[in-house]
Amino acid sequence: MGIDLKREIKELTPELIELRRYLHRHPEPGFHEVWTGQMVAEELRGLGYEVKSGIAKTGVMGLLRGGKPGKTLLLRADIDALTIGEKNEIDYCSEQPGVMHACGHDGHMAIALTVARILSHHQSEWVGNVKFVFQPAEEGPGGAKPMIEEGVLKDPKPDRALGLHLWNVLPVGTVGIRPGPTFACLDAIDITIRGKGGHGAAPHQTVDSIDAAAQVINALQTVVSREVDPIKPVVVSIGTIEGGHAYNIIANEVKMKGTVRAFDLDLRKTLPERIERIIKGATASLRAEYDFEYRFGYPPLVNNEGVCSWMKEIAAEVVGEENIKIPDPTMGGEDMAYFLQEVPGCYLLLGSANEKKGLNKPHHNPEFNFDEAALPIGVEILARAALRFLS
Ligand SMILES: [Zn+2]
Ligand SMILES: [Zn+2]
Repeated sequence: MGIDLKREIKELTPELIELRRYLHRHPEPGFHEVWTGQMVAEELRGLGYEVKSGIAKTGVMGLLRGGKPGKTLLLRADIDALTIGEKNEIDYCSEQPGVMHACGHDGHMAIALTVARILSHHQSEWVGNVKFVFQPAEEGPGGAKPMIEEGVLKDPKPDRALGLHLWNVLPVGTVGIRPGPTFACLDAIDITIRGKGGHGAAPHQTVDSIDAAAQVINALQTVVSREVDPIKPVVVSIGTIEGGHAYNIIANEVKMKGTVRAFDLDLRKTLPERIERIIKGATASLRAEYDFEYRFGYPPLVNNEGVCSWMKEIAAEVVGEENIKIPDPTMGGEDMAYFLQEVPGCYLLLGSANEKKGLNKPHHNPEFNFDEAALPIGVEILARAALRFLS
């Protein structure tokens, strides 16, 4: 291709960083990304994209047709922030109390908008279509599924899907690409345990829901340790427990919420029964009763092998082959999985940590930040991939 991408991206980098910081100052949580969605839609319209906004409440889609008809590439960026109060001392700190881009989605949007810009500059030099999907609520309850239900994968249907996540597990200058299952499925459980309240000094007149809850919590781990093939990872974590309110009263009821993770889809299907059976047995043995709800969430994210090898070559041209890593799979969830269920593609992890600069805090930490040197790398990888796929 006759496009000097490196030079073009170098020239765009100050604006790319400025855009990321602007977005960082204005975080909005899932399905409340009203300002963000408008901002993204305006940018895309200004670049000549056909824009549809308000998809799945706050999502935005931008379509650009190249010089001639051809294949369609989908590029996805998530746009939501987290309900975390920022503790960084930076001059582009969040201006929304209690809300923060603590996962790097501000960077994903800045990268995607810059790629959108490059592709519009060169519109006559490529063929086919590029479809940008700016998706709300990745952190939950999930915007990918409702966006697909509202038709973002139609007219035209994408032939390939790409996306990336800034990744503070990897140093800046490296790229993680893992073929196959990379992120786990993400399911939710709600458990209510009902006993019979009474005086703390007269337990024999009561059914202690807290005691039953304790047995349930302990026994639940045997799903992982005694029932499931140890080669197949599963996590069952109880995240909240609520019950009781006084020193001397035996609690009538305990409510718990938890998360369940797995990679294997057949195994996943068995988990509601296994978990409920344990709750049922443990509560029955202590004369308590229960309600149980298992809600299937994001599916596992599975990268297409062929697209991964293709992306590895492209990423190696940008960062060098020695800097392409195969990251470990994570039990974290990612709703890019829904797009990759429908369209073969690759979700890559863009190294963004810089220990020397103190930019290595974990995602979702109130002091999370990343090395902005990762941004032009992300732009170059996606722009190269787009121009090659649409050549
Ligand atoms: Zn996150
Ligand atoms: Zn994220």
